[in-house]
Amino acid sequence: MQAPANSSYDVVIVGGAMYGSSVAWSLTDNPDFDGSILVVERDPTYEFTSTSHTNSCMRQQFSAPINIKVSQFAADFVKNFRDYTGGDERVPQPRLQSYGYMYMADNEEFAATLREGQALQQANGAGTKHMTPDEIAAAYPFYNLEDIIAANHNLVDEGYFDGNTLFDWWKRSARERGAEYVNNEVIAMNRNAANSRVESVILKSGEVISCGTIVNASGPRAVRTSRMAGIEIPVEPRKRYTFIFEAEKPLDRDLPLTIDPSGVHMRTDGTYYLAGCPPDEDPAVDYDDFVQDHSIWEDKVWPTIAHRIPQFEAIKLRNSWAGHYAYNTFDQNAILGPHTEVENFIFVNGFSGHGFQQSPAMGRGTAELITHGAYQTLDLTPFNYARIARGEKFVEKAVI
Ligand SMILES: Cc1cc2nc3c(=O)[nH]c(=O)nc-3n(C[C@H](O)[C@H](O)[C@H](O)COP(=O)(O)OP(=O)(O)OC[C@H]3O[C@@H](n4cnc5c(N)ncnc54)[C@H](O)[C@@H]3O)c2cc1C
Repeated sequence: MQAPANSSYDVVIVGGAMYGSSVAWSLTDNPDFDGSILVVERDPTYEFTSTSHTNSCMRQQFSAPINIKVSQFAADFVKNFRDYTGGDERVPQPRLQSYGYMYMADNEEFAATLREGQALQQANGAGTKHMTPDEIAAAYPFYNLEDIIAANHNLVDEGYFDGNTLFDWWKRSARERGAEYVNNEVIAMNRNAANSRVESVILKSGEVISCGTIVNASGPRAVRTSRMAGIEIPVEPRKRYTFIFEAEKPLDRDLPLTIDPSGVHMRTDGTYYLAGCPPDEDPAVDYDDFVQDHSIWEDKVWPTIAHRIPQFEAIKLRNSWAGHYAYNTFDQNAILGPHTEVENFIFVNGFSGHGFQQSPAMGRGTAELITHGAYQTLDLTPFNYARIARGEKFVEKAVI
């Protein structure tokens, strides 16, 4: 455990993975912010974080226009990473492999949803195309399409991106610019006499650290962190399974991130392939439960991928892991902004399965909110916690 250098900081961030580092870096990058930043991270190996278990994909196929804009910013940020990070020659160029998401429909109701989604996404500048089975077969002859009646696919700025390069650079650059990262754990918080602010946090090693603003960037542990301030949020850890496999006969072109009607998804992963799915029963799990369920591979994933791509009948499982979504049970969208009563408590929580790609926009927006009291670039207000206090859902229908 490390003790922080000071006993008071303008901003204390709980959690230093993708979101803690995105907010920390964005603050240091905001020319109007000149405060001090402490990032408290309980596990600097990041072994059990969502960030380490991600599938690292981005898409513009969302039902809420603001989510499309957020991902468009992510694509621009990745493609122009060095420019966004100040032109530093040490900054590597992260990869963005635009093979697209292929959402498949096997019934008229979902095909209609896809048609509606395509129109909305196109109106918001996304390159989504609605495809007939013949069009899918012409572009990707390896699919078995006997039960498929339509699909949506977008080859523009949608697919895999190397988010870990962003994460590594944000951490390194935030530190170089003065943000302090400590290996410690926030275990409690003190509110002021009026109960309107968190005035200090207590660390596992005993120090009491005063804070101007507190940011909850604790991923699947978001509820535990919020409760320290007496706040409830509808976020829970839900298990998601990922499988890496090798095909005896690899495909002759990239496999788009294909979302099979069964809920199983699969994509190209270098020389291997990646597949995953939610479990049929999807309860909240213990924060430390990362036990793999091999029956999901045997009974669901393998049969599904072999059915959809007959060439995948001969495959070998090479790796697998279980990770946690920070799942927003209320409306499956991100929760941002300040609490309505504890006014200096800021959320960056509940990203479910699309948080990696949202980190450039959400980190930047949160830094703007902390610095200026309002979003300055993209208006992220629809994500604010205030909707939860009002009981108004802001639903994202396209959740994988
Ligand atoms: C299997 C899987 C696949 C995914 N695929 C995609 C994808 O394809 N595209 C996409 O956009 N997103 C995807 N996601 C989601 C994305 O990975 C997450 O939204 C993102 O990584 C969340 O980052 P985070 O920083 O909020 O949380 P985390 O990475 O979990 O980090 C939270 C951090 O807080 C620390 N912490 C918690 N409590 C405390 C405390 N009290 N004191 C100090 N430190 C604390 C933890 O140790 C941890 O380091 C996927 C997630 C999973 C699990």
